[in-house]
Amino acid sequence: MPLSAERQRDGSIRSGAAAQTATQTVTPAVVLWLTTAGAIAVTLLAGVSAPRPLRLNLPLLAHASGLLAGYGVTVMVALMSRAPALERGVGADRLARWHAKGGRAIVCLILIHGVAATAAWAMARGTSVWVATVDVLTMPGLIAATVGTLIFLAIGAISAQSARRRLSYETWHVLHLLTYLAIALSFSHELAGPDLAGLPLVQVAWSLLYTFSLGLVLRYRVLAPLTQLWRHQLRVDHIVHEGTGVVSIILRGRHLNELNPESGQFFRWRFLTGATWRSSHPFSLSAPPHQQFLRITVKAVGDGTRLIHSLRPGTRVLAAGPYGAMTNERRQGRGVLLIAGGVGITPMRALFETLPVDGRELTLLYRASSAEEILFRDELEHIARHRGAQLIFLTGPSSDPRNAITAQSLSAMVPDLPARDVYLCASPRFAATATTALAHAGLPRRQLHHEEFNF
Ligand SMILES: Cc1cc2nc3c(=O)[nH]c(=O)nc-3n(C[C@H](O)[C@H](O)[C@H](O)COP(=O)(O)OP(=O)(O)OC[C@H]3O[C@@H](n4cnc5c(N)ncnc54)[C@H](O)[C@@H]3O)c2cc1C
Repeated sequence: MPLSAERQRDGSIRSGAAAQTATQTVTPAVVLWLTTAGAIAVTLLAGVSAPRPLRLNLPLLAHASGLLAGYGVTVMVALMSRAPALERGVGADRLARWHAKGGRAIVCLILIHGVAATAAWAMARGTSVWVATVDVLTMPGLIAATVGTLIFLAIGAISAQSARRRLSYETWHVLHLLTYLAIALSFSHELAGPDLAGLPLVQVAWSLLYTFSLGLVLRYRVLAPLTQLWRHQLRVDHIVHEGTGVVSIILRGRHLNELNPESGQFFRWRFLTGATWRSSHPFSLSAPPHQQFLRITVKAVGDGTRLIHSLRPGTRVLAAGPYGAMTNERRQGRGVLLIAGGVGITPMRALFETLPVDGRELTLLYRASSAEEILFRDELEHIARHRGAQLIFLTGPSSDPRNAITAQSLSAMVPDLPARDVYLCASPRFAATATTALAHAGLPRRQLHHEEFNF
């Protein structure tokens, strides 16, 4: 039995307004300002430790790129620590994009550091680059740091779009975890190298920075899911067939209100069976959270999701979260337009029921490739009737002009569009089309709240 709108009302976890206070969040702007301030401080530090800092020269370049790379690593680790303040304030998909861009920048900085440091050494000693390379490798921690650098370069290569597409998510993820080994291998060189050697206070501060960011990872990626497993005792309660290749999984647990989950959010789920325990998959809550039950809805798209379809009631579940910033907290104005494409309906279904908006100013636009692919039709129609909200299904081929998502079509459906908040969850292609159309229809960027089902 799916969690119906009626069942949610009894025992449902408080709505977004009350939950806002539960977790402190940091905005993207604050994260960017703090990161930039740190980078400026590190560049100044490089100036202090480099000889002749007032002229751009190879030693200064080597110092600055090395320190910035070392600092950048701590920022990247913290961004992916899954700390709730970041996940809720910035959003998981934006964090992943920043991490990807930052990771590429760090690999470049490491390369610049290696080349500039070796060239500077060769110039200072009047030796060949080959002799300088051998000399440099005998410095404290340099062999380990070189192995670390090679690992960083390899991870940069497998994370490039073309290589990434050829690897399964699991393989890519396991290889990506080697980053922690690369960090450990490079750390002693950072402390003992010429940038920080002889500056004990800075060495302590540098070590604390690393301890802090790795501590965040340990706290939120390792300890939090294990604590949740023990405290909430989540298990699969039952499974409901929703349509071709789509099932809802209803999970039963204890004290779920303590998690402060909200409609619009997702968890990373690890189902503890022999076949599925190795992978954790992100799935959104497809019904408002309840003190004892959570519902997710899973479309079979690959091996992992196909295995999830054959889970049995009673299976233990390790859930990490809640994550995601697409909640009521993000709203700027009064009315709301929810746009869902395909299985992107899952968080929208929960928001459609719970967003504290006057029903007359609430619209759900749901695009599916055919009428048979529409999920939760009865539930959505029930909620629309009950709240007096507008529900629009768009089905059929994209070539049909009636299905086109343009500024004109959106404005015709929702005349007060520029005054509304828009929540969007769809495939990257549909999301890009909708984003362009919304901008042309006059929607201010800050009123668009978007999450992709794709990292
Ligand atoms: C924030 C978020 C919320 C989501 N909510 C839902 C939902 O409510 N319902 C639903 O059906 N789908 C949802 N998805 C998509 C779902 O997580 C993937 O379809 C699923 O993990 C694919 O696993 P697979 O092994 O079957 O597919 P594969 O064929 O292995 O992969 C298909 C795609 O999913 C990506 N993927 C695979 N495993 C993971 C993972 N562990 N973490 C992140 N990405 C992965 C791959 O990179 C690839 O792009 C969501 C995704 C995200 C990022």
